[in-house]
Amino acid sequence: MKRRQLLKGAAAAGLFPFVPAMGSSSARDHFVADDPVKITRVKAIPTCPHGLELLVVKVETDQPGLVGYGCATFRQRAHAVVSAIDDYLDDFCKGKDARNIEDIWQTAYVSSYWRNGPVLNNALSGLDQALWDIKGKMAGMPVYQLLGGKNRFAVDCYAHANGSSPEEVAENVLKFMERGFRHVRIQLGGYGATHLAKEPDFKTAGFGMPDDNYMDQQLYLKMVPKLFETVRKRCGEEVELLHDIHERVQPLDAIRMIEQLEPYRPFFIEDPLSPENIGYFPMLREHTTVPIAMGELYNSPHEWLEPISKRWFDFIRIHISQIGGISPAMKVARLAEWFNVRTAWHGPGDVSPVGHAANAHIDLAVWNFGIQESVNFSDTLLEIFPGSPYVENGYMYVNDAPGLGVDVNEELALKYPYPDKNNYNWTQLRKKDGTAIRP
Ligand code: MG
Repeated sequence: MKRRQLLKGAAAAGLFPFVPAMGSSSARDHFVADDPVKITRVKAIPTCPHGLELLVVKVETDQPGLVGYGCATFRQRAHAVVSAIDDYLDDFCKGKDARNIEDIWQTAYVSSYWRNGPVLNNALSGLDQALWDIKGKMAGMPVYQLLGGKNRFAVDCYAHANGSSPEEVAENVLKFMERGFRHVRIQLGGYGATHLAKEPDFKTAGFGMPDDNYMDQQLYLKMVPKLFETVRKRCGEEVELLHDIHERVQPLDAIRMIEQLEPYRPFFIEDPLSPENIGYFPMLREHTTVPIAMGELYNSPHEWLEPISKRWFDFIRIHISQIGGISPAMKVARLAEWFNVRTAWHGPGDVSPVGHAANAHIDLAVWNFGIQESVNFSDTLLEIFPGSPYVENGYMYVNDAPGLGVDVNEELALKYPYPDKNNYNWTQLRKKDGTAIRP
C-alpha cells in the first residue's frame, strides 16, 4: 500500500505530467488526432548508483510533456550502448512518427545492416520500450492494457536464496517462505559453488590474471543434489525450488546431474547448456522430465526458433533488452504459447527499474506466463525511478499510471556516473589448469 500511496503522490506532484486525470479524455482526444507525434530527440541516461551500470533511453517528442523511457541496460558494454543511442539512434529517429512503433523497430533494426548483437539490440530496446511508454501515455492506459489486458492479478515471482552451505541455503529459503514467496531459487555460494574450490594450479603457475575466478566443476556437480536434498528435508514439499547451472559444465555432466535432481521435483533448472551447445537438448529431453529454463544469453531469433518449436525447454528465459524490447518479446511469448513454453524473463539487478516494469507488463498480459525473477530496489533507485514495480508476498505489482508507469529523475540519475574502470571480473572464470569456462 505504501508504494501505491507514493505513486499517487508522485502523480500529484507532476512526476507523470502527461497522465490525464481519471475520467478526463481531453489529453487522450488530443493525441489520438491524425497529426504525427514527431520524435525530437533520443538520448541515453546512464546511471550507476550501486556499482551496476544502468542505462535508460528517453524519447522526446514535439508534444509538450510527452516523453517515454525504455531500458537499454547492458553493463558489460555500457559505454558502447550509450554511443549506439546518442551517436546513431538519435539521428536515425529524429522526425519519425513515434506512434509507429513496429515500423520504427523494423527500420532501426536494419539501419546498421549487420544486426542481432547485444549492443545494438539493447539500444533498440531502449527506443522500443520508450515508444510503448509513449503509446500508453497517449492512450491513457498502462502498457499491459495495450498488450491485451490482465491474465492475472499480479506477477508471481521467485526469490534468490544463497548460502555457503546447504544448511544455510535452507534457512534462507525458510525466510523467503515466511515473507510469502512460493518459489525460491537455491544456489550454493555464487554460481558454480566457486567458494568451495581449492586454490587452483593456474594461480600458482602465474597463469591468467590475479583476480580471475575459478571453479571445480566436479565438486559443483556433486554438491547440487546434496543441496536439493537438504533444502527439501528442511523446507518441505510446499515450496517450489529452482536452480541456475549458468552453463559452466560439460553437457553430459549437466544431463546426469539434472537426472539426479528428479526426486526433489525442481520447478525448473536454468541454463543447463551454453548457447554453443544447444544441439544437446534432444539428448537432455530423452533423459529427464525435469522442466528446463533457457535463453538468458539469446540475442537472435535463430537461437530460440528451433528450440521452442521442438519443445526442447519449458521456460523461455530471454533478457528482454537483449533481444530489442517489448515488441520482439511479445512475438516470442506468442510463438511460445503454441508450443506450451512459458515465459520466465531474466530479471537481475542489472536491469533498470524501467526494464523490470516492461517485464512485468508483459507478464500480466500473456497467457503463457510462467514465473518472474523478483527484484528489490534500494531507496536511491526508487528516488531515481519513481513508480518502479514492487514485490509483496512474492507477487510483483506495477502501478496503473499510463505507459510503463516509471518516471526518471534525470538530474539525480546523472549524479551517479559510470565508473572510469570497466569491470570484467564476473565473466572471467577458469578451470584448475586455467582453461576459460563459459560463464
Ligand atoms: Mg541465469
